[in-house]
Amino acid sequence: MSQETEHVKCLIIGSGPAGYTAAIYAARADLKPVLYTGIVPGGQLTQTTDVENFPGYADGVQGPQMMEDFRKQAERFGTDVRFGYITSVDFAGDVHKVVVDAEKTITAETVIIATGATAKWLGLESEQKYNGFGVSACAVCDGFFFKGQDVAIVGAGDTAAEEATYLAKLTNKVHMLVRRDEFRASKAMQHRVLNTPNIEIHYHSETKEIVGDGQNVTGVRVYNNQTLEEKVLPVTGFFVAIGHKPNTELFQGILDMDTNGYLITKPDSTRTNIEGVFACGDVQDHIYRQAVTAAGTGCMAALEAERYLAAKEFSIA
Ligand code: NDP
Repeated sequence: MSQETEHVKCLIIGSGPAGYTAAIYAARADLKPVLYTGIVPGGQLTQTTDVENFPGYADGVQGPQMMEDFRKQAERFGTDVRFGYITSVDFAGDVHKVVVDAEKTITAETVIIATGATAKWLGLESEQKYNGFGVSACAVCDGFFFKGQDVAIVGAGDTAAEEATYLAKLTNKVHMLVRRDEFRASKAMQHRVLNTPNIEIHYHSETKEIVGDGQNVTGVRVYNNQTLEEKVLPVTGFFVAIGHKPNTELFQGILDMDTNGYLITKPDSTRTNIEGVFACGDVQDHIYRQAVTAAGTGCMAALEAERYLAAKEFSIA
């Protein structure tokens, strides 16, 4: 490892709506933030097509374009945006140490973690092929595009139950694919699904392939894992709701996390259990997971970092 070390006031890890919003606020507060993008610059939104629910874009916007706009806005105020991946962190001392690409050490007075979460996918080739063209991992983001149509959703946890009932309000019919003979979701959520007339539950059902015409989804081939019987359900939308994985491996044993690996922040705050380390966006939110809520907590993190530094300077003076 090289001995190169750089000192910064504010280091931001992650380049989704949370990271870039934190950068905009931190840069405007003269914290001279350095932001490392991670391996997917722009985060999850670069893997979607139309974004229609982010306020300010009256005609909607493509996800990658929106993240370009976020980046430009952060850079306009002087954020130093760098492509790089954080490979280790050491938050034990007064100044936090972060290693980039296993090479460069940065010491930072404040660290804002905005590393996001990753949707879990089934891992089918056809799922990748039609991602953004009928396949989605977010009903709230993309359900609107399937108004009045027939869709399928895979999963049986609280997310799948919540998203199935959301889709049922917009679409004509929801086929819910459950791989066992029972749900994992809470009883209350199950009750809601079972009492929604346009949700048809297919137990013991797994997805073999998403069928399409080369451009859009036209159906889903499912099989019964008891009888091995196959059938194609004619749907135009296929939603995957089998969970998310917060990107927190780096912080294991260092920052407080819940049992699913989401970072725990103090109530009404983005503060973690370590002074000067803040977390915002999906890495600490398994409930809302929206670009706008991530941006909101990004703003909070930068304001809290600024106040933390101001209080520290005041106590030294
Ligand atoms: P969960 O891990 O709870 O559930 C995942 C579901 O996906 C399970 O039913 C699982 O099936 C199924 N699944 C996993 N892999 C596959 C696969 N390859 N093929 C088919 N099905 C698969 O994730 P959630 O996102 O639903 O929930 C995460 C956490 O967030 C939970 O603690 C949940 O309670 C919470 N949550 C709370 C909400 C609320 O309170 N309003 C809303 C949403 C989430 P199986 O059951 O067979 O393992």
